[in-house]
Amino acid sequence: MVKNIAVIRGDGIGPEIVEQALHVLDRVAALYGHTFNYTDVDMGGCAIDKYGDPLPESELKKCIESDSVLLGAVGGNKWNDVPGHMRPEKGLLRLRAGMGVYSNNRPAKIWKQLADASPLKKEIVDKGIDFIIVRELIGGIYFGEHKTEGDVATDVLTYSEAEIERIGRIGFETAQKRNKKLCSVEKSNVLDSSRLWKKVMHRLADEYPDVELSDMLVDNCAMQIVKNPAQFDVIVTENMFGDILSDEASMITGSIGMIPSSSLGATTCGLYEPIHGSAPDIAGQDKANPIGTILSAAMMLRFSFDMRDEADAIENAVSAYLDAGYRTADIMSEGESLVGCRRCGELIVENLRKG
Ligand code: NAD
Repeated sequence: MVKNIAVIRGDGIGPEIVEQALHVLDRVAALYGHTFNYTDVDMGGCAIDKYGDPLPESELKKCIESDSVLLGAVGGNKWNDVPGHMRPEKGLLRLRAGMGVYSNNRPAKIWKQLADASPLKKEIVDKGIDFIIVRELIGGIYFGEHKTEGDVATDVLTYSEAEIERIGRIGFETAQKRNKKLCSVEKSNVLDSSRLWKKVMHRLADEYPDVELSDMLVDNCAMQIVKNPAQFDVIVTENMFGDILSDEASMITGSIGMIPSSSLGATTCGLYEPIHGSAPDIAGQDKANPIGTILSAAMMLRFSFDMRDEADAIENAVSAYLDAGYRTADIMSEGESLVGCRRCGELIVENLRKG
């Protein structure tokens, strides 16, 4: 198969981690007889420096015309003082909206080799952590009106039934492919938008009788994720709640450097990126963990290109690398072998086998 991938290296550790993911994709292409063509796209701080714009239309167009987009991370202290509409993260919001990716899917899964890295008690971790948060990505308060008048600031939170329904369906369909348990998270004791959310989820539930739907208030969910994460299979929630809960969920699995994500809309052209940021504190030092980006590339193969064996091969190679005791600094503990970003990528490539 021939696939055209738009590649956004971005800022900070972005270029280092993306480089390793591309080596892994090249090895997959060689093993399975595919061709992956890469088109470089400037986004974030590097695009501000080059064009005075975090995502010029021409760069967005390259992404929309690709078969999928692989992103490292954007942002950094250098651009902290630029005006709000020009910030590197604006490029990301524009990219998500421009690609029409309304569903962000983040697995919270503990690798058995890294069970000790979780900040949770062993007896909680031993019950297993393996769930997915499906977050609405292009609606809600982040995309509502924002204004400051004198000493009053306002941010508007709006959801339509149609917006809730399309993300709700992704939640139900994701649960159907897993353990058929969907937890809808909202704040219906306070917010009108959450009451609409709950109503739409229960209407949809009639169409997915094989999925067990439950409701949970977001404050309770934040507690349950640390108290008893094994209860969750799939969580579906709105944009801001999902942003916060998915960061919490990623922390309980150990390192944020390990976690991939996918963002999808109505087509198979998706956006794949690790959940962490550009980590300016370790940029350019060959210290970053590239596994979140490598696993994002695996998600791209699985969800956008329907290359399941190839995705399994990457995940197995990561597992073999961890089994052999190699660790980047972020997940290092006693008795293991410290490697840098480049060596980590090389070892994963060496462990890649055609399944
Ligand atoms: P961060 O995720 O970049 O870093 C938080 C901590 O985790 C740092 O100590 C960092 O060294 C560490 N870390 C992150 N990724 C790592 C990896 N792969 N390997 C090893 N350690 C890793 O979050 P931050 O420091 O709050 O933000 C830094 C910049 O990134 C900011 O400009 C922020 O706006 C931006 N950001 C971008 C994205 C994105 O591009 N999607 C997401 C979040 C933050």
